[in-house]
Amino acid sequence: MKTTLKTEITVKDICDGFVYNELEGKGLFGLSGTLTIQPEYQRNYIYADGKKDVAVIDSLLKGYPLGLIYFNKVSEGNLEVLDGQQRITSFGRFVTNKFAIKDDNDMEQYFSGLAKDKQNKILDSKLTIYECEGEESEIKEWFKTINIAGVPLNNQELLNAIYSGEFVTLAKEEFSNSQNSNIQKWGAYISGSVDRQSYLERALEWVSKSKENIDGYMSLHRFDNNITELKNYFNSVIDWTSTVFIDVEKEMCGLEWGRLYETYHKKAFNPKTLSEEVQKLYADSYVKNRKGIFEYVLGGLEDTKLLQVRVFDDATKKSTYKKQTKEAKEKGISNCPLCAVGNNTNKTKIWSQNEMDADHVTAWSKGGETIKSNCEMLCKTHNRAKGNK
Ligand SMILES: [Zn+2]
Repeated sequence: MKTTLKTEITVKDICDGFVYNELEGKGLFGLSGTLTIQPEYQRNYIYADGKKDVAVIDSLLKGYPLGLIYFNKVSEGNLEVLDGQQRITSFGRFVTNKFAIKDDNDMEQYFSGLAKDKQNKILDSKLTIYECEGEESEIKEWFKTINIAGVPLNNQELLNAIYSGEFVTLAKEEFSNSQNSNIQKWGAYISGSVDRQSYLERALEWVSKSKENIDGYMSLHRFDNNITELKNYFNSVIDWTSTVFIDVEKEMCGLEWGRLYETYHKKAFNPKTLSEEVQKLYADSYVKNRKGIFEYVLGGLEDTKLLQVRVFDDATKKSTYKKQTKEAKEKGISNCPLCAVGNNTNKTKIWSQNEMDADHVTAWSKGGETIKSNCEMLCKTHNRAKGNK
């Protein structure tokens, strides 16, 4: 790969012919039309938060360097931004009066309202740009490894860069597009942000059955001219989830719906019954992990570990151990009630407290409370064997 350092290109040069697409949130072109600011492999513009974009302008006004910018020379007179898109889009939008900054008197100022000398200070700022030339694969591999200034690319953004092409373009149109009216509905089940590719990542994770398979799936489908399978599978998961669970609870956001769909979608559920079970568990103060409620009811109310049901406190354990051990010693039997009734070498064994665990006499799932009168100490082996508590 060949790189050429350019130090004479100014903000003004780049902003010549700057086009910003408000709808897609993309800076599109600059440098008199010869520069593509957001090639397909770039992420969406995420600096428009009134802080990072303003910081770029502040830096220019103070004469601070903006850091290295990388262009990829696609052909003669045809460049695309490899790294620096967020910074370029920020000053491009400012110079074209898309947002304002606060001046020394705390007044909002658009570019057109700035004093001439300040305008020129921005426009005449020189940038440090490396122009890179090489094979596409080489450029992308390098792009994956460079330490990107500002906000580092996350894993999905990197994958979008590496597997750029029609499939990624179509997938981003569906899953990375904040104008998509479905986003609000999806947001009940998916956490993270559209701009940072969280929805696309979930869609790919679900269809490929695991986060680790996303890379392989994207590679396999890279040259597809449709995203039918991806979209259908995603919609199946969302439809199933919203059908099975009628109520939308905030703890549903970010659960592994793809895995739950795979595990349970062939089983018949009565949504009304599920809803009642969920509500009952929501009202149960012993349930510590509400996020586990959904899988717990799907699994037929068996795996209480999912709920992290409140456990006995140390004082209760200690006093129960003392009482049990005293009685056992008097009778000459094991202080584990299950060892005591068995016919084995532990029949008379007195366990130490750290060899025992607290157990619900009446299981929590059968209405047993986490209170002293429902606590018994069992040896670890018997406690484990009793399993579902
Ligand atoms: Zn035992």
